[in-house]
Amino acid sequence: MNNSIKLFKIKGIDIKMHFTFPLILVWGALSFGLFRNGGWEGAIYGILVISLVFVIVVLHELGHSIAALNYNVPVKQIILLPIGGVAQLEDIPEEPQKEFVIAAAGPLVNFIIAGILIIAAPLLGQKISAASLLRISSTLGELSISSIFTYIFTSNLFIGLFNLIPAYPMDGGRILRALLATRLSYVRATSVAVVIGQMLSWGFGLMGFLNGNFFLIILAFFIYTGAGQEGRLVQVRNVLGDLRVEQAYSRGVRSINLNEPLETALHFTLNSFQSSFPICDEGKLAGMLPYQKLVESLEKRELSTPIREVMHTGIKPVSPRDKLIDVQMRMSSQRVDALPVVNKDSEDFLGMITSQDLNEAYRLSLAVDKAKPMVRLKEAA
Ligand SMILES: [Zn+2]
Repeated sequence: MNNSIKLFKIKGIDIKMHFTFPLILVWGALSFGLFRNGGWEGAIYGILVISLVFVIVVLHELGHSIAALNYNVPVKQIILLPIGGVAQLEDIPEEPQKEFVIAAAGPLVNFIIAGILIIAAPLLGQKISAASLLRISSTLGELSISSIFTYIFTSNLFIGLFNLIPAYPMDGGRILRALLATRLSYVRATSVAVVIGQMLSWGFGLMGFLNGNFFLIILAFFIYTGAGQEGRLVQVRNVLGDLRVEQAYSRGVRSINLNEPLETALHFTLNSFQSSFPICDEGKLAGMLPYQKLVESLEKRELSTPIREVMHTGIKPVSPRDKLIDVQMRMSSQRVDALPVVNKDSEDFLGMITSQDLNEAYRLSLAVDKAKPMVRLKEAA
């Protein structure tokens, strides 16, 4: 998610808000200012009440993040969305025990805060009661310390419990997968968790429609698509397994010398399957000329322009020993569909690995796997 603004940094983790996040604050302002006739004062009150919930959400996400950092899993960032927060971890470990701890750490933070409040409130002469909760959500200007205590207590309890619903990829669903994975294979455990998550998301969606609760409908959508995406990733990771670039990349790729004119690339594109070209200098990779770049260059430059003047440089090639799954992840995060393959020692250009190669590797090893052990494909390569 790139459409976000950095707010601050805690323990080296960027806390960002998605550009849609202010919508929930607007909703808070409208809900108290307009619908409950609070006027400007009510609007400010609404924004404060919602912001307080998001402070709790950040603490929850920090719980996941600190648990992850403890296992040396890097945390990219925490993003606040109108429906909650997401701690983006670099690579969630496929180890049930670690996943269990990382998933449980978020709700645990909420239960600890709620526990502290329930002990501290009477000591400070405050009471946590349903009556003061009702006051905070219905009337304005009656803010007492008691009602703020109650509000923070209830919000923590609610956020903690809500996240424990076993709807993968919510925390409860991750905990469920971790528990299942102690008995089943990781892939099997994930597919069971995905099915349960998607079933529950239908339930959420239906409940949202019946009650006119927009929040639940959006949440249902997020759970449904999130579960599907993560389930697929686990599947791909499992099928590609230990397959490496050398087993799938395209040899015999046509490369172009960097001193050749644009016209050469134009002819090669028209006369072959290839549309994206590695640019070489005496057998060593010097750059790339992707199709889009060729089109742009043809629009702006003469046909006689040397390719070295328009090619992309600074592309990190892959090595034959790299894992296909890592290449797949890199290609999807960088949004490219081909990468050059280069011998690590001699730096000689060898060929290209394309998204089509990856697709073939996936489909073929799935097919081979069904009939024969995976070893066959590895021997064949
Ligand atoms: Zn969580």
